[in-house]
Amino acid sequence: MANFNTHLNVAFMVSGTMSLTVYKAGLIDDSGFLMCVALGTIGGLLPDLDSDNSTPIKLGFNITSFIFAFGLVMHWRSELSLLALIALWLAGYGFMRYVVFSVFTNMTVHRGVIHSVPYMAIMGLGMTYISYDILNLPLTVSWFYGLFLFGGAIVHLALDELYSVNLSNMKMKRSSGTAMKFYQHKDKWWYLLLYVMLVLLVYFAPPFDEFWQQLRDPAPWAKLKIGLWPELIKNWLN
Ligand SMILES: [Zn+2]
Repeated sequence: MANFNTHLNVAFMVSGTMSLTVYKAGLIDDSGFLMCVALGTIGGLLPDLDSDNSTPIKLGFNITSFIFAFGLVMHWRSELSLLALIALWLAGYGFMRYVVFSVFTNMTVHRGVIHSVPYMAIMGLGMTYISYDILNLPLTVSWFYGLFLFGGAIVHLALDELYSVNLSNMKMKRSSGTAMKFYQHKDKWWYLLLYVMLVLLVYFAPPFDEFWQQLRDPAPWAKLKIGLWPELIKNWLN
């Protein structure tokens, strides 16, 4: 297993490079760029957040719950009365903090469940939902937020996988099973729950086609090609 610093550095480098590419192609703006780097880096640390380091995970839960409650209030601010908004704020926060996250905290006891591809896919999709449906951010940026969080986590799992292969080559103690996990029999009920949640999230997800069309549009990539090389090299190449 790779250590914390390796995960932090690799996740930061990969998400930084990817965000810069998407930014230079003109698909996201300045704040979107910063958010993508941050989310990719957080994603790279996410799989190792278990109940052992409860302080960062609790902080993360609290912040996410606040953002969720805040987003709910912003979403309904003109339709509802002040009292209704306060009730919505409290209910939204309470629901996220004490219902949704208690399920996730329970899962972290089963380390294999959180350190898996389906769990991280749920996290990524959840990010897209929060961004698009709650915070009312544009579709493209919402999908990028989800994808960067998920991508960071996949980088993490791939790194762990790489390190465990390395270790076993050196005939050291092999870590049990593979790091890039999709299923584990001993946690079958947790995995069943994960896949049911994943199917529901995919089914009700914000429109992906529109986002995909935008990615396939050649214009941003042509723009990227122009901005790829520094002026000096470009002149020399021509
Ligand atoms: Zn790990």
